[in-house]
Amino acid sequence: MADIIDWIRNRDPEQREFHQAVQEVLETVQPVLDRNPEFRRKAILQRITEPERVILFRVPWMDDQGQVHVNRGFRVEMNSALGPYKGGLRFHPSVNLSILKFLAFEQVFKNALTTLNMGGGKGGSDFDPKGKSEDEVMRFCQAFMSELSRHIGPDTDVPAGDIGVGAREIGYLFGMYKKLRNEFTGVLTGKGLSWGGSLMRPEATGYGCVYFASEMLATRNETIEGKTCLVSGSGNVAQFTVEKIIELGGKVVTLSDSSGFIYDEEGFDTKKLEFIKRLKNIRRGRIKEYIEKYSQATYNEADSTLDHNPLWSLKADCAFPAATENEINGKDALNLINNGVTLVSEGANMPSTPEAVDIYLDNRILYGPGKAANAGGVAVSGLEMAQNSMRLKWPREEVDSRLREIMKGIHRTCLDAAEEYGKPGNYVAGANIAGFVQVVHAMLDQGLV
Ligand code: GLU
Repeated sequence: MADIIDWIRNRDPEQREFHQAVQEVLETVQPVLDRNPEFRRKAILQRITEPERVILFRVPWMDDQGQVHVNRGFRVEMNSALGPYKGGLRFHPSVNLSILKFLAFEQVFKNALTTLNMGGGKGGSDFDPKGKSEDEVMRFCQAFMSELSRHIGPDTDVPAGDIGVGAREIGYLFGMYKKLRNEFTGVLTGKGLSWGGSLMRPEATGYGCVYFASEMLATRNETIEGKTCLVSGSGNVAQFTVEKIIELGGKVVTLSDSSGFIYDEEGFDTKKLEFIKRLKNIRRGRIKEYIEKYSQATYNEADSTLDHNPLWSLKADCAFPAATENEINGKDALNLINNGVTLVSEGANMPSTPEAVDIYLDNRILYGPGKAANAGGVAVSGLEMAQNSMRLKWPREEVDSRLREIMKGIHRTCLDAAEEYGKPGNYVAGANIAGFVQVVHAMLDQGLV
């Protein structure tokens, strides 16, 4: 195993996030490899960690002042053993090949867990939508799609949103794809409701993450009701995580953005959440503005000189990291445990560092890793693809009940796989093993391609 990890490291020494994601999966699937020596003979690890295709392209666009800018566009098509490549697009200045390869790699296993026919991919750009005008965002999306359109399609590769790509960007991307290809197809998910989108897709990641948490709590005869919860982020995933927790009788006391976090000891209610949604989705303001309206709350400016994030040292029962990768380090994880947190359900992708994960596991708290806990988003994307293929739309209740069933199924699958391989209650091992086994069998069935 160490030899393969070294081989991957030496090939692309600078891709730290990718190495982190690969190492976590490969270490936990060791018992599967021990039971199946043919996996080694067929070089499964080398094949599964190498993207089937990486597309890297120039995105030139013009700002409102007539100035030309050049960003980088990417699409990592990681694995198509189970279906067309599927996964979001991220627009954020931090985007590079390492981040997108880690996200695409995680996506492969996450999508397998949903049981829907989706391979794994991820893409995006180092473009920063923050502070850009509506017209600039549209021109950028059009420029991005003018190249990406050659590589995607409803049966080939179906992108969606991720950080920095929401309903607005999906609309502009879809419009340009349709114009260039002269086809109205389900080439993207997260579309507007009137032009092919699925009901419940905006809610799906956040709701799914809370459904997964409820399933974990049920194994200890507990529920979300009455629990104090920390949520990070304030985008799509965080907003709908809060919405579902409120509905189930829990109390959420924090939200954040890249500038800092707010703490409202009374907890958010639906009215406060509506204010936050408007602030973030329509006015595109900063979370700090919340305290101007709700003066009992406090604002804590992000401080990069600290070795921990004070958001994770507040007293609480549950934590839902829904911002970004590596937002909880070892010190934060210890703070969570010391302040009473007994459940972490990840709305973001890989928000916990390996040190943090070890601390959760050592303390035997309920820990739902992102590739299981946040799979609800891509699961409903899969349902959007199904509806598009049938050219019909399911009612909200139908999509929600399918989402619940899928999250329940993922939870069960994780527990069963963990049990089978001698790691009872370990959702990390369970998710990695169950996803891995499914993808590998499909790869073996399909031969050396
Ligand atoms: N970006 C989301 C994820 O990390 C959703 C992907 C999709 O819907 O295709 O799973």
